[in-house]
Amino acid sequence: MSKSTLTNEITKEQQKEQESLNLFYSTQTVIQKALSKLGYSDEMFELLKEPIRMLTVRIPVRMDDGSVQIFTGYRSQHNDAVGPTKGGVRFHPEVDEEEVKALSIWMSLKCGITDLPYGGGKGGIICDPRKMSFRELERLSRGYVRAISQIVGPTKDIPAPDVYTNSQIMAWMMDEYSRLREFDSPAFITGKPIVLGGSKGRETATAAGVTMCIEQAVKKKGMELQGARVVIQGFGNAGSFLAKFLHDAGAKVVAVSDVYGGVYDPEGLDIDYLLDKRDSFGTFSKLFDNTITNSELLELECDILVPAAISNQITAQNAGNIKASIVVEAANGPTTLEATNSLTERGILLVPDILASAGGVTVSYFEWVQNNQGYYWSEEEVNEKLVAVMTNSFENIYQTAEAHGVDMRLAAYMVGIKKVAEASRFRGWV
Ligand code: GLU
Repeated sequence: MSKSTLTNEITKEQQKEQESLNLFYSTQTVIQKALSKLGYSDEMFELLKEPIRMLTVRIPVRMDDGSVQIFTGYRSQHNDAVGPTKGGVRFHPEVDEEEVKALSIWMSLKCGITDLPYGGGKGGIICDPRKMSFRELERLSRGYVRAISQIVGPTKDIPAPDVYTNSQIMAWMMDEYSRLREFDSPAFITGKPIVLGGSKGRETATAAGVTMCIEQAVKKKGMELQGARVVIQGFGNAGSFLAKFLHDAGAKVVAVSDVYGGVYDPEGLDIDYLLDKRDSFGTFSKLFDNTITNSELLELECDILVPAAISNQITAQNAGNIKASIVVEAANGPTTLEATNSLTERGILLVPDILASAGGVTVSYFEWVQNNQGYYWSEEEVNEKLVAVMTNSFENIYQTAEAHGVDMRLAAYMVGIKKVAEASRFRGWV
């Protein structure tokens, strides 16, 4: 290990001690604050601070070279008082149990904010899909469904895409589940290809929801989207479509990045060119000589900053250097609690992840409804309904923040957790 890596790790460790970089811990902290603001007892916190169910599975997969590799996977169900649990499955080398738990709690919050009839769930498999073949991915996806099949289903827990999973993976999972149950079960999973019962507008739904939040935030700040300078970290499902939508809406997207680095042009980037050049993991920066690092990108001169990649990007260390007036979190957990306070103190409007990225699960709900009724909607109909949900959710949280004198993150937690707490109370659980 080189000296610089070691120094880096020590700094990260020290930072971890000083700052809440642990997503599960910071989620619990905000849940406790939100419940106490709402006047709930400690017993309610005891119920909601952990998922009600967490399944760990080991999945043997026959690799293309004939060897067998055992993968570890998780499915976490936070709370099913409101209804069946719902949430994506991520395939990533850094998936861990605590992260999956935290993400399942966030799904409860997202469904509470958007008023969907679901509790929160989340799944993950420790693997690197970038290093696996198409058929190995298929065997892994099917193996995961067999391993978790007892606790999932259209009226129990409904998976969906997340980091590095897509409609093809949803199709394999739906097919495996349908074979196990011996009847066609499109409502088992969302984010499917349209021909298998996927919803129009699902693929772009997260980015569409983020765009709607940006439109609202810009209005609240008395700014104009037309000509506003936007920086986006990440060019995956959320970041890439978002760049396109904002560019088409007249904003000037000045910088975007992938996992290796970013490109910057103060005059605005050619988004269609970048979309054309990126690979299926959202990578494009290797094609350019003149790139900037992801941390440089966050500190660029701009009006709107959208972290749309991974967690813990805006921390106490760089929050003071953020120049945007609006930060909209399209990724899960990109800003630490300390950084949230620092941005809020400086008058920067922060639209939290559980609100900004809720467009995905909202259209997943529409997909599930369409599957259940066997009647499919037009793209206009989906979009119209999504606008209504996102606009109401944003306004509700903005008003809650104003009324309680809190930042939008705490307000979003208050709105989101209230529905789960009320449903649990009516059921007599607390
Ligand atoms: N994985 C997405 C999220 O974190 C979508 C979940 C879903 O559609 O159920 O919100």
